[in-house]
Amino acid sequence: MAETLGKAAFLHHLGEVLAGIEADGLMKRERLIHGAQGAHVEMQGRRMLNLCANNYLGLADDPRLVAAAKAAMDEGGYGMASVRFICGTADAHRVLEQRIAGFLGMEDSILFAACFDANGGLFEPLLGPEDAVISDALNHASIIDGIRLCKAKRYRYANSDMADLEAQLKTARADGARFILIATDGVFSMDGYLAKLPEIKALADQYGAMVMVDDCHSTGFMGPKGQGTPAHHGLSVDILTGTLGKALGGALGGYIAGPQAVVDLLRQRARPYLFSNALPPAVVGAGLAALDIVEGADDLRAQLFENARYWRAGLEALGFTLLPGAHPIVPVMLGEAQLAQDMAAELGRLGVHVAGFFFPVVPKGQARIRTQMNARLTREDLDFALEAFAKAGRKLGVIQ
Ligand SMILES: *Cc1c(COP(=O)(O)O)cnc(C)c1O
Repeated sequence: MAETLGKAAFLHHLGEVLAGIEADGLMKRERLIHGAQGAHVEMQGRRMLNLCANNYLGLADDPRLVAAAKAAMDEGGYGMASVRFICGTADAHRVLEQRIAGFLGMEDSILFAACFDANGGLFEPLLGPEDAVISDALNHASIIDGIRLCKAKRYRYANSDMADLEAQLKTARADGARFILIATDGVFSMDGYLAKLPEIKALADQYGAMVMVDDCHSTGFMGPKGQGTPAHHGLSVDILTGTLGKALGGALGGYIAGPQAVVDLLRQRARPYLFSNALPPAVVGAGLAALDIVEGADDLRAQLFENARYWRAGLEALGFTLLPGAHPIVPVMLGEAQLAQDMAAELGRLGVHVAGFFFPVVPKGQARIRTQMNARLTREDLDFALEAFAKAGRKLGVIQ
């Protein structure tokens, strides 16, 4: 009886939390797509231009990946029905892991169900209470959670603030840290800003620290052959994590790449690896096909960055405030949360699907619409979108 009452009160409590989210204007509503993800998507029977997917190279609906997934499923079946170490490791898993490692210039890699799991499982097996992890304040939620799960001492530096990073390195050394790992996103996804890897690496060398980079918003399109931000900067780091869910096909799957001993120990100890199912054959087969395409996709990468250049120039000419850069993440700054939501809604009515971002995802007063380019958007698409931004921006008083 008490249990029933407890549950009723609990659900009432949850209802109040939800009402609070609604009252704060922070309720996220999922809009339904019918059919495949792409430069255009169908929503409520309407064809929309899509400017908010992480589909940088436009591979999410690529027929070559669909065919590779089907072929892999025909050969390997639907699911593995096991974690990797019991009876869930197919030859294809090892081929993909070695392929990812080769692509990134690392000794080996280890697959996870998602990069969220990769980051969640990375730190705890590698670092103990004698060690230190120093993390950028704007790192992805999965890095923050992964660090919370490990016993190393935690230090945080203000986003890309190299003086602060150095101060934290000094503190960690003064605190007697055995090993120090600096953790950063390669690209900060709300701003499209690149981590200052050359300076981070120099500081790491100076203080005897190692560097881990989460390159989810970079792998496949930044740097030579799309090898990511370290390659873009002409350097290498100690550990890389990434996803198959963005430029590399857009389905799911994550990985950690690094020295052999790191990968070997993670295979023994990383909890999301040990206690969660192996990736299914379709995802592994399409992942290999995605790497084949990506390695030869200089044309797609050139188109992606040309699109980003054209899109930025067009928005700036209209008078919008952008964050500077060349990354295909192009944030249109609007200030207040309500304005970002109104702008997104107005653009939706005009046939352009975008998402407004506001507190707590970005700081208060820095609400924005984060647009993202992809290689499959045509000049016609971008001109259509610029016209919609012009109309919506004038209507809402964002531009003249
Ligand atoms: C998207 C993203 C992740 C999560 O990747 P999944 O494979 O979707 O779990 C982790 N880190 C960063 C920086 C990301 O952008």
